[in-house]
Amino acid sequence: MTYPEQFQGFAISDPKDWATPKLTSFQPKNFGPRDVDIEVECCGICASELFALKNDWTHDPLACLSSKYGPKTQVVGHEVVGKVVAVGSDVSLCKVGDRVGLGAQASACMQCGRCQSGNEQYCAQSIGTYCDPYPDGYVSQGGYASHVRAHEQFCFPIPPEIPSELVAPLQCGGLTVFSPIKRNIQGKKNPRVAIIGIGGLGHMAIMISKALGAEVSAVSRGYSKRDDALKMGADHFIATSEPNWNAGLDDTFDLILNCASSTSSLDLNALLPCLKVNCNFVSVGLPHIDEDFKVKPFSFFHNGCNIGSSKLGSREEAIELMELAVKHNFRPWVETIKVCEAGVSEGLTRLDKGDVRYRFTLTGFHDFFGT
Ligand code: NDP
Ligand code: ZN
Repeated sequence: MTYPEQFQGFAISDPKDWATPKLTSFQPKNFGPRDVDIEVECCGICASELFALKNDWTHDPLACLSSKYGPKTQVVGHEVVGKVVAVGSDVSLCKVGDRVGLGAQASACMQCGRCQSGNEQYCAQSIGTYCDPYPDGYVSQGGYASHVRAHEQFCFPIPPEIPSELVAPLQCGGLTVFSPIKRNIQGKKNPRVAIIGIGGLGHMAIMISKALGAEVSAVSRGYSKRDDALKMGADHFIATSEPNWNAGLDDTFDLILNCASSTSSLDLNALLPCLKVNCNFVSVGLPHIDEDFKVKPFSFFHNGCNIGSSKLGSREEAIELMELAVKHNFRPWVETIKVCEAGVSEGLTRLDKGDVRYRFTLTGFHDFFGT
């Protein structure tokens, strides 16, 4: 069977095979009145997919496959760009033929207070683009696939100025950093922002902070990314491998945004005093389930600072981010890989080793799937 009955994608059926997803056919979710089918053109590779495939965010051995609910397959992928090929009867936000982007969220109730106040990413009924059960038990399947099906709210219009492989990483990684940067610095005069972890999210956070008018410090574990970070627009570079890296930084930042995928090198007791009074350390990095923050209460005390988090971003913010990228002419630094079993495996394996500068986008979906 072919589309619309069946989609094709790269799936695992056991977390130990996280690095070698295989081409599989699978049934999409039931087509709802506000659903959109996207014929995928390309898809970024986000570190969240490694955690999900390896089942590293839970102690439930079945969670990544959600085999309690549906088929024992998992197709990841949530920085999708593609063409709308079908729309439900109540869809008004896009039409067949449009180029759209889809990030890590595929559905929400759209009725609750959060959904109605531009915070649909925090909806209690939010459903992720992959690995998340719908109320009927169907487990969402992501964008390393011929097609992906999602609620129209999460299919974002893309400005014509940005090529698909460069706009793909903005759908999850870019949006995830844009939302807390904007919410924490807007209205401030000459804000100073520190970005920790110069990977996929971190490198976009540097460019986004600059575009929003901040003075930016890039914070990395060593010096290997220094020249790149400065080219991305960072005003300062801090290597935490230096013994006294925080000397003179007390009372400096309006926001510290943590984009690191592990807390193992994070010294919160040294970082928090670098914040101005009542300002925020926001962590978007989501490490292995067994990793913790280690911090002394006195590290918050002298500036009354806060530790917080942030999840994805809203549709409104996604659209605003892409407009900002056009206006300020910044683009994610992307290495493309042709989609196929070997290509998906190469992308996941190299990202796992930190061998990426700074985001992979899988491309060539039309050639591979014959779409
Ligand atoms: P990348 O692997 O591209 O980048 C992560 C960066 O973290 C690395 O470049 C490195 O920066 C730093 N890092 C890596 N390993 C370690 C370590 N052992 N100790 C300390 N720092 C380390 O990942 P992504 O940018 O794709 O994702 C980053 C995190 O954000 C992930 O945890 C991901 O799951 C999460 N995420 C969260 C979302 C949300 O809504 N909150 C949405 C999307 C992703 P450097 O070399 O400069 O030190
Ligand atoms: Zn992501």
